[in-house]
Order: sequence, then C-alpha cells, then structure tokens
Amino acid sequence: MEMTQGASQPEASPDPVADQVANQAAHEPVVGLEAPFSVLETRKHQMFPTLTPAEIDRVRRFGTVASFKAGETLFCIGDPAPGMHLILTGKLQIIQRDGLGNRFPITDEGPGQFLAEVGQLSGKPALVDAVALEDSTALVVPPERLRALLVAEADLGERIMRALILRRVGLIERGGGPVLVGKGTQPLLLALQAFLRRNGYPHKVVDIDTDPDAMALLDVSNAPASDFPMVICPDGGILRAPDEGQLASCLGLVPEFTPDHVYDVVVVGAGPAGLATAVYAASEGLSVAVIDCRSPGGQAGASARIENYLGFPTGISGQALAGRAFVQALKFGAHVAIPLEVSALHCGENPIRIELTDGRMVPTRTVVIASGAQYRRAEIESLDQYEGRGVYYWASPVEAKLCKDEHAMLVGGGNSAGQAAVYLASHAAEVHMLVRGEGLEATMSRYLIDRLKGLPNVFLHTHAQITAMEGDGWLSTVRYKERSCGPDCITRPMRHVFLFIGAAPNTEWLRSCNVTTDPKGFVLTGYEAHQSCTERADYTLETSVPGVFAIGDVRSGSTKRVAAAVGEGAAVVAQIHRYLAGMQAGQTVQAVA
Ligand SMILES: Cc1cc2nc3c(=O)[nH]c(=O)nc-3n(C[C@H](O)[C@H](O)[C@H](O)COP(=O)(O)OP(=O)(O)OC[C@H]3O[C@@H](n4cnc5c(N)ncnc54)[C@H](O)[C@@H]3O)c2cc1C
Repeated sequence: MEMTQGASQPEASPDPVADQVANQAAHEPVVGLEAPFSVLETRKHQMFPTLTPAEIDRVRRFGTVASFKAGETLFCIGDPAPGMHLILTGKLQIIQRDGLGNRFPITDEGPGQFLAEVGQLSGKPALVDAVALEDSTALVVPPERLRALLVAEADLGERIMRALILRRVGLIERGGGPVLVGKGTQPLLLALQAFLRRNGYPHKVVDIDTDPDAMALLDVSNAPASDFPMVICPDGGILRAPDEGQLASCLGLVPEFTPDHVYDVVVVGAGPAGLATAVYAASEGLSVAVIDCRSPGGQAGASARIENYLGFPTGISGQALAGRAFVQALKFGAHVAIPLEVSALHCGENPIRIELTDGRMVPTRTVVIASGAQYRRAEIESLDQYEGRGVYYWASPVEAKLCKDEHAMLVGGGNSAGQAAVYLASHAAEVHMLVRGEGLEATMSRYLIDRLKGLPNVFLHTHAQITAMEGDGWLSTVRYKERSCGPDCITRPMRHVFLFIGAAPNTEWLRSCNVTTDPKGFVLTGYEAHQSCTERADYTLETSVPGVFAIGDVRSGSTKRVAAAVGEGAAVVAQIHRYLAGMQAGQTVQAVA
C-alpha cells in the first residue's frame, strides 16, 4: 500500500487551552526562546483574574487571613504548596527560577488576585517563588479547603480552576524548573524528559551536542561522560545520571501517605480506568488513593490523537484527556500518588495491604486493579541493545523530533500502530509499516486505514517481519523478510523502529495474592472468577478475592478501548459501595479457592 496525500494535521481543539495542560506534547521546552505563538497571550485575563469584593467574601469561609511584610518570602520553589493566597491588600510577586539560578518574574498581583496553580490542589511542591513587594494581607486557603471551595462554589470554582490550569501551561511553556543536560539522543535523557513531560512538570533541556557553549556556561565540560545526563535541580543540587525516582525525590515529587490511614479503596494504575475510578469514588465521598509508577494516562497517554472517544468530535490527545481527568480527581480529593510502584498485594489480611517498591505499606478496605497492559517485546535478537537507541514503544513528540526528516519503521497493524503512523508521517520523511498479515482491514479501524491511505510517505509492507537489527551504539540497519523472499532478504538503513505488537498484562505485582487469571495472565472477574457462585453474581468486576476488583485492559475479556476502561472505572464504584456496606453490616466473604 502506498499512500497518496500529505500528512493530516490534527484538527483544532474546541478548547486548546485545556488540551495544553497535560499535552506538553505541543510544548517542547525551547531553551532561551519564547514559543512563537502562545494561546495564553489571548487568555491572560483568565489566567490572572481579579475577584470582585462579593466573590472574595464567598472565599472567606475557606481560608484564614495572614500578613506579610514587604520583602518577605511567602514560599520558595520546592516548598510544600501552602494553598491559594487571595490578596486582600498590598502586592505580591511570583518568580520562576531555573536550576541555573535564572530568575524570571512572572507577574505582580494585587487585591482580588490570587497565587496558586494546579499543584496547590494537592499540596505538591511549589513551582515558583512568591515574595511580598509591599506590606500585604492575604486569605490563605489550604489545599483541602481549596478543593472544597472548587466543589462548593461551582461558578467561581470554574474560574479559579481555569486559572490554575492556564498557569501550569504557562509555567511549562516558559520552561523553568530543573535543567536536563545531556546528548539529545541519550536514552536516559529521553526517559527523564518523557517523565517530566508526562507529569506536566516544567523543565529545560540543554543538548550538549547542539549547544556546546552550554557546557562551558554550565561549567560541566570536565565531567566524565558517565555523569550525563545531569540534572540541575531548582535548588542548585546536581544529579548525575539519575533514574526517575531520584529525579522525583529531588523535585519533592515522591508522594507521602498519612500513617495508619485506611483507605476505602486504593486503585493501582492511573490510566483511563484508574482515573475514572478515582473521580467517581472521590466525588461520591469515598477515601481513595490512586497509585501509578509512571504518569497519569497509562497507554492512552501515548496516543497522539484519540478520535473515537465520545464527546470529542475533533479528537483529543491522550495526554490532554489524562490531564483533565487527573485534575478532576484532585478536585474531588483523591490522593493521586505518582510516581510510586506497587510491588505486592497482601490480600489475605484485613485491612488489605498494598506494598510499594520502597517498602512502604498502604492499608485499604478494597483494591481496584487497573494496572493495564504494556507493549510486548518482539523476539528479535539484540533488540535490547537498541531499546531507547532507535527502538521505541511510544511515539511521543520526543521520539517524533528524533525522526524529523528521517525514515522510520513501525511494526504492528492495530489502532495504536495506525495512530502512531499517522502522527509520525507528519515528522518523518518516510514511514514503513510492517505487518505480518494480508493487510490492515482485520486489525485496524476503518477511519485510520482511510487516513493512512491519504499519506504519500507511508508505505505498508504485508507478510513482513523484522529478523535482525544492527548498529554501533545506535540502530542503523534493519533486516526483514517479506513473503516473496527468504529470511533477511531485505536490508534497509533505519535509525528508528517503533514496536506496537500487542500487549501483555501488568500483573507481576499480584503474585503475592491468589487472584486468578486466564492463560494469558489477564485477571478474571465476575462469573468466571467466582466459579459460578451465584451469591457474588452482582460483583461482575470483582476478582476471585473478595474486595479486590479489576477493570480496564488488565481484566480478562475487556474491550481494549479508553471508553470501555472509563466505563468500568465508573461501574466498579457501585460494587465497591455495596461491598463496603456489606463489610459494615458484618458480612464476611470467603475467597474462591
Ligand atoms: C498508542 C496507543 C493508542 C491508543 N489509541 C486508542 C484510541 O484511539 N482509542 C481507544 O479507545 N483506545 C486506544 N488505545 C487503547 C487504550 O489506551 C487502552 O485501552 C486504555 O489506556 C486502557 O486503560 P487502563 O486504565 O485499563 O490501562 P493502562 O492505560 O494500561 O494504564 C495502566 C496504568 O497502570 C500503571 N501500572 C502498571 N503496573 C503498575 C504497578 N505495579 N504499580 C503502579 N502502577 C502500575 C501503568 O503505569 C499505567 O499508567 C490506545 C493505546 C495505545 C498504546
């Protein structure tokens, strides 16, 4: 199949700003440069609104008045967010600062204006410094009261929430915060960049290949190669080749849990299914924590444009959708704990305990397994040598940038492969799709096949399979076979290969609990898990262990779609309510042996 028209561009979103909040995809940090056009320029009035005296009065019951002397620092980057400061008198200034000590005053605010951004909803570390320019007074609304305000005062809450989101977008656009220094193609640098981008954390990247002056400027020219990528944190601390966990600690992002608090429900996984549970459970008054080892959005976060999710006729990027759901979950008071990995589930106990890889235990009455699936690795010799060095499992803007004007190869014929091909076609010179079957009809949605047909630089190779990869440090050549020839019959210079070849469930952490799975490892629920026990007939999403539920892609027999995951995330909450009511009434349920 050879396509004939130019790459399609994503259509304009009906709400470009909300899309931007989590879609840092669209906002690669550009060192020393302003974005050529920022939608924020036209939204300053929404970003920095001034509340009327009547509105200030409505906020009063949520906060307490504090005074600040001229020159006093209210908080610094990295301090736990104290909440929103609504200025009553005087003038306060917000300053963004990067790891190099550069300070960028953002705005001066006066009476009726407020200091806060998305992080204030959950007491996350502040991303800016704030100082009093004059003797001032402000109404300080702590995070839990700010959430209560957003829920109780719907119209005012909407204005405040919009400002918080716009401000985070603005901070990301400006690119303050930690500075990542390294070679632009270094796998660890790409991973750290992706981690910060997916978590909506402002940062800068200095590529020492394309910006050699930066080395001298940063005074790191004598550092050994093993020190890179280096991260200069906003407090000036330097991390050498850190992993995601070390970076998260340096930025104060490692989530805390209140000791001994027993949650009504802990959700493992903040993909569409887990976030839906968090929103519905928290909005219905349950005490809920959602834990994810990477970022909100799960696999959907890898989607450049989801076009089949109800209510978004022009499509929405997976990160934008996840960003909205994430903020919604925070608003209703869910404790979203990212990045934290769950290592084990201790389910034979009351309360059930969730063990984290750092050894901490989180007690809970019920558990929702929403840990989804991840892409399978292909059986190609030497594949591991090139993962992150030319072989990728995501097609995000970071990878797309690497492919710019080069050739890319994509393996797989499902919808995710189709979306990635459409997306990459607008960056790469050529995109070669390899599928094992006859074509795409049996595995891909019609709209994507039609879209691909319109792209002149996408080439479909059927009955094709990669047999070998070669390269010195970075992938340079791919050998593959097609039906017409024997193994290794085609050799193609190729620096970028994307693998989308089916998913395996994330269930390693369930080994410590007797949750039954199907032969492929997907978790059984309902009738199959309960072995036809009619007493549990209403618990269609419960696993073989009472109080442990499974939803979304990790569940055996689930429809692997965002809408299905979200639907199950909502539906499971009703079953949790029923289970908790039974617990309160003293009913005990035995696990199915
Ligand atoms: C590139 C791509 C494009 C797609 N496009 C579409 C589309 O257009 N339309 C559509 O309907 N569907 C699409 N899908 C499918 C859709 O994204 C999935 O069906 C959906 O994301 C499943 O949601 P989930 O919450 O069940 O699981 P996931 O999205 O897989 O989320 C699971 C989460 O659990 C976390 N996790 C796993 N193990 C642990 C652990 N031990 N501790 C802590 N956290 C853990 C993971 O980090 C992850 O964030 C696409 C998928 C991909 C990959």
